[in-house]
Amino acid sequence: MAAKTLLILPGDGIGIEVTAQVRRIIDWMAKRRNVAFEITDGLIGGAAYDAHGTPLPDATIAAAHKADAVLLGAVGGPQYDDLPFDKKPERGLLGIRKQMGLFANLRPAVVFDALVDASTLKPEVVSGLDIMIVRELTGGIYFGEPRGIETLPDGQRKGVNTLTYTTEEIRRIGRVAFDLARKRNGKVCSVDKANVLECTILWREEMIKLHQEEYTDIELSHMYVDNAAMQLVRNPKQFDVVVTTNMFGDILSDCAAMLTGSLGMLPSASLGATDAKGRRPALYEPVHGSAPDIAGKDMANPLATVMSFAMCLRYSFDMAEDADLIENAVKAVLKGGLRTADIMQPGKAKVSTSVMGEAIVRELDKMV
Ligand code: NAD
Repeated sequence: MAAKTLLILPGDGIGIEVTAQVRRIIDWMAKRRNVAFEITDGLIGGAAYDAHGTPLPDATIAAAHKADAVLLGAVGGPQYDDLPFDKKPERGLLGIRKQMGLFANLRPAVVFDALVDASTLKPEVVSGLDIMIVRELTGGIYFGEPRGIETLPDGQRKGVNTLTYTTEEIRRIGRVAFDLARKRNGKVCSVDKANVLECTILWREEMIKLHQEEYTDIELSHMYVDNAAMQLVRNPKQFDVVVTTNMFGDILSDCAAMLTGSLGMLPSASLGATDAKGRRPALYEPVHGSAPDIAGKDMANPLATVMSFAMCLRYSFDMAEDADLIENAVKAVLKGGLRTADIMQPGKAKVSTSVMGEAIVRELDKMV
């Protein structure tokens, strides 16, 4: 069988430490599951700027196009704050998403039983929560033209941004959501503001058409974004897959993230369009940043990155069984009482990044 190719871009700060824990899991998979990954390392963000004077070297873009999937740590750091805009580490991240054509951002919000108290919401509201926010990532008001700030003849200034979506942009993100729902609990809630915005009237109409044409086995509902924000904190467990526009998704996915209570536990995936050969560009990364305050101290929580790798196995390599193994190992480690500092609770054992990584491998060993 051809080796599966994975490009790892550790990036900056804790990105280096957390991606190192995924390497332990990959080594374990080679030994115990007979799964060979061909791993390439690349530079992005501040590390790439230090080495090559750009946050996104051509070699990194080429390697990303070549690989079956990309796993990214995080980018950024205070030492890069004064760089010109186009040299900032974050431009590397936006650039690679654009180069790879990643239009769908998947952000699961899962509450583990062992961490139910980490949420600011009542345990009965969040326990057992497992929802998926699907955000359109390359269209909508963040990219629409015209945009800008102009000065009017009377001297006032006017700011303009434009919300646009085409039929095809709506249908392709709709398909991602419906396909995910088929592998989950069969429900999609499409979030819009169709009572006010024509663009999202079109969004709703196209979601309904797509549903009728291809996905009648899935339950489709619609919700205005203001209500969705309220429902996410009132009764989040009513949702399975939520699909929405770029800006609404930006806001709602952060809201959903906080239901779980911890930045160090949140994975994500960004997917592009499947090509004629059946290959789909995909980038997996934790939601958190490079955490300069704890970088290099072996303190960071690697679980968001480990679970991003589990998503990679599930969505890029169709290895649901191995993804389940990793997610179950994470649950077992937490149940066993190990905690990195960010999720520390009274009576639990505080461990380092690397000890957490080793503990996951130990749990995996017990499971096969
Ligand atoms: P951050 O996510 O890096 O950190 C916010 C807080 O959460 C910090 O106190 C940090 O210590 C803590 N934290 C984050 N991840 C953690 C983990 N895995 N384990 C334990 N604690 C964790 O956000 P920030 O401080 O606003 O940004 C720092 C840098 O990261 C900036 O340069 C920013 O631009 C960049 N950033 C990058 C990404 C990315 O690469 N996707 C995302 C957000 C921010």
